[in-house]
Amino acid sequence: MGSKTRKVKIRDLEIGGGAPIAVQSMCATHTRDVTATVEQIRSLQSHGADLIRVAVDNAGDVRALAEIRKSTDARLVVDLQENFPLAENVAPHVDKIRYNPGHLHHLEKQTSIEAKVAWIAGIAKKHGVALRVGVNCGSVAPDFLERFGGDHVRAIVESAAWHCELLDKLKFTNYVVSLKDSDPYQVVECNKAFSERRPDIPVHLGVTEAGLLPDGVTKTRVAFEQLIPLGIGDTLRVSLTLPNAEKHQEIFWGREILKDIQENKFVSVPDFGKGLNIISCPSCSRVENGDFVKLAMEVKRVTGYAKDHRITIAVMGCRVNGPGETDDADLGLWCGPHTVTLKRRSEAVGSFKYHEVIPALKHELDQLIQVEVK
Ligand code: SF4
Repeated sequence: MGSKTRKVKIRDLEIGGGAPIAVQSMCATHTRDVTATVEQIRSLQSHGADLIRVAVDNAGDVRALAEIRKSTDARLVVDLQENFPLAENVAPHVDKIRYNPGHLHHLEKQTSIEAKVAWIAGIAKKHGVALRVGVNCGSVAPDFLERFGGDHVRAIVESAAWHCELLDKLKFTNYVVSLKDSDPYQVVECNKAFSERRPDIPVHLGVTEAGLLPDGVTKTRVAFEQLIPLGIGDTLRVSLTLPNAEKHQEIFWGREILKDIQENKFVSVPDFGKGLNIISCPSCSRVENGDFVKLAMEVKRVTGYAKDHRITIAVMGCRVNGPGETDDADLGLWCGPHTVTLKRRSEAVGSFKYHEVIPALKHELDQLIQVEVK
C-alpha cells in the first residue's frame, strides 16, 4: 500500500495514505437488468469486494442505477465512457465516478477538456463522490498521442499527470489515478514513471483485458509483484474474462495475489512476449452478445497450436471499445450484436457470424505463422 499517497475517501472506505489495499470488481450484467445486476453485486460483495463498478451508457441505465442503489449498500462506482454528461445523473446514486481522459473529446467538441473536467469535478464535489482518472492504453487522448509520438508510456503518464494538475488547480483532491495496459510490463513501466512524478496520488492498479484463466491471473501477478512491493498501488482489480456466474473470481484472485505478495511468495512467471498472447476483455454491461465469453474460450482452444509464436490475439466484447482496443494486436476480434469483426492490426478483414469467425481467424493466424517462419 502506498503510504506516501494522500488519503481518498469513498464513502466510508479509505484508499491511500497507508490504508489496506482495496479490492474491486465490475459487473458484467446488463445494467438495465436490475435483478441480475443486484444479484451480481451481492455475489461480489459476499466474496469481499470493497468497491463494485457498473457501466452506465444512457438514460435507461441511469434509471436502472437508481433502482440498484435502493437495493444494495455496496460502494458503487460508475464508469463513464464517451458519455461524460451522464455524470450529473449518476452522481446522486454512486460513491465514485471514473472518467477516461481519452474519451472526453468525443462529445461537446466546442467545450475545452479543462471545462469538462471542471464540470465533472464540480458535480463530484456537490455530491461528495470520489473520482478516478482512468487512463487506458487503447484510448489515450489524441493530443497526448500526437505530442509524444510513438512513446506510448510517456503519452499515458503525461496525460494522467496533466489531469492531476488540473484537478489540483480546481482544488479537487478526492481522486485516484489508474494507468492500465494489457501488457503487464507496460503497466509496470507506466506506474513506476507516474509514481515518480506524482508519489502523492493514490493508484488503482490493473492489467486491462488480462483475459482468461489461468493466464489472466499470471499476467496480473507479473505487474502486481513488481509494483506492490515498491509501495505502488492503493486499490486493484484483476480483470478476467469469466462467465457471469464466476465473476467473483476476480475478487478471489485479487485477494490471493495480495496475500502472496504480503507473505513474500512470488510466483515465477513466463515471459508473455515470447509466445502466443491472448488478451480478452473482462466483459461488462456493454457486451451485446452473450456468446462473447464462449468465443474468447474457443479462440484460446483452437489457437493452442501457435503457442510458440510471438503473436498477440485480442478478443473484445463490444463495439464501444473493441475497435480501438484491438488496433495494436496482430489479430483482433470485436463483438457486435450479431457479427464479429476480424482485424489484422488496425485493418478490418471482415465481419463474420459468430460460428463462422473461427475458421477465418485460423486462416489469418496460419498466414502470420508462415510469414514468421519464412
Ligand atoms: S471491451 Fe467493451 S465489453 Fe469489454 S469490458 Fe470494455 S467496454 Fe466492456
